Amino acid sequence: MNHKYFDIVIVGTGLVGLATAHSIIKDFKDLRLAIIEKEKEICIHQSQRNSGVIHSGLYYKPGSERAINCTIGREMLIKYCKENKVEHDICGKIVVATNQNEIESLYKLELNGKQNGLSGIKMINKKDIKKVEPYVDGIEALFVPQSGIINYRSLAISLFQKIRKNKNVTVLTDCKVQKIDKDCVDTSLGKLKYKYSIFCGGLHSDRLAKLDNICTQSKIVTFRGDFFRLNKNVKNRIKNLVYPVPNPKFPFLGIHFTRMMDGTIECGPNAVFTFKREDYLKNEFSFEDTFDALSFKGTWKLFLKNWKFGLDEYKRAFSKKIFLKEINKLVPSICENDFKYCRSGVRAILLKKDGSIEDDFVFEKNNNNLHVLNAPSPAATACLSIGDKIKSKLFEC
Ligand SMILES: Cc1cc2nc3c(=O)[nH]c(=O)nc-3n(C[C@H](O)[C@H](O)[C@H](O)COP(=O)(O)OP(=O)(O)OC[C@H]3O[C@@H](n4cnc5c(N)ncnc54)[C@H](O)[C@@H]3O)c2cc1C
Repeated sequence: MNHKYFDIVIVGTGLVGLATAHSIIKDFKDLRLAIIEKEKEICIHQSQRNSGVIHSGLYYKPGSERAINCTIGREMLIKYCKENKVEHDICGKIVVATNQNEIESLYKLELNGKQNGLSGIKMINKKDIKKVEPYVDGIEALFVPQSGIINYRSLAISLFQKIRKNKNVTVLTDCKVQKIDKDCVDTSLGKLKYKYSIFCGGLHSDRLAKLDNICTQSKIVTFRGDFFRLNKNVKNRIKNLVYPVPNPKFPFLGIHFTRMMDGTIECGPNAVFTFKREDYLKNEFSFEDTFDALSFKGTWKLFLKNWKFGLDEYKRAFSKKIFLKEINKLVPSICENDFKYCRSGVRAILLKKDGSIEDDFVFEKNNNNLHVLNAPSPAATACLSIGDKIKSKLFEC
């Protein structure tokens, strides 16, 4: 392939890239669009290795991109799923306080949810927790009717099939972007020229921005999340979605229980620093990724500030007994033999030089190239709204 010309090139076939392509095709059917993916298959990283939850918008700072896109995106997602027969279930969730110290945070969460437009959320007492989730122990909980579950892989396939129907779309898999210019990318399959490009590189978004000479002061560091599955004999201990009260200092929601679309119950994910960006097995190592993370001041500042949290996560990743302690806070009747490790995912966290974590979605533009630098959770829930946003940003002067 030599110097093929496209109106728009989209890099990355995670949900953000696919939803962006879907949004563009809706309005501009005749544009020549190329979608590039470095893997042999589409959508095999964050977008398919996540918790499978349709987030309500409970946690995000009112007015932030995450809050706005989650609320709009959730509604768009449900409409899309209904119209295109993507299985999902708006089953609601509870966020459970298990000790008195968590009550204040829980009430703050309720207020935050209300500010984000979540009507119908309500605090429930110990007795009512048992009516919703009979095996869950808590002193008070927040019930959120808008949360749900979905298989994000099915969503990705549905979007991909619709995109592919357009004869002006070219999909190139096994095609890695290696160099970026103003109007051209060099890939492992050759050069592609374009008028506009959109980079939705997930775990590698900072590297793509660097290739484009965008001077970011931030870096992607990655945290693996391991998921465990409850055995059949204890599957009935969870009906839908059960979350702990999150520690407001960290961008993770804490180890929670999720009913998956296939009816199994998973618990997780933890959050363990990885020495390889795509580390789905517990002890993978990449010299490039490790050097990249550890040569960045922000990583050390994050470690020093949160060494206890980091150490606890490491211990928990290698000890089922410690993991059990965490889940027993919510469901005391589960024993060590009642669950097994099933899978892992890795989250991209955009870390600033001062060791703080970038909280919101981040987009950067360089001429006609647009980069999605930070698309953490709830970017899967919000993908259709993010896709629309990227489309309008792309043509802004
Ligand atoms: C453990 C975990 C649990 C989560 N739970 C939820 C949840 O329940 N609900 C929710 O809404 N969100 C959740 N999220 C967040 C959500 O999954 C992500 O925010 C979202 O999937 C990000 O999508 P993306 O398209 O930006 O990235 P990705 O899905 O990672 O896609 C990026 C793509 O870019 C490709 N790429 C990268 N570099 C190149 C290159 N040089 N050349 C070509 N291609 C390249 C990659 O191969 C990849 O396919 C979770 C995430 C994780 C990891």
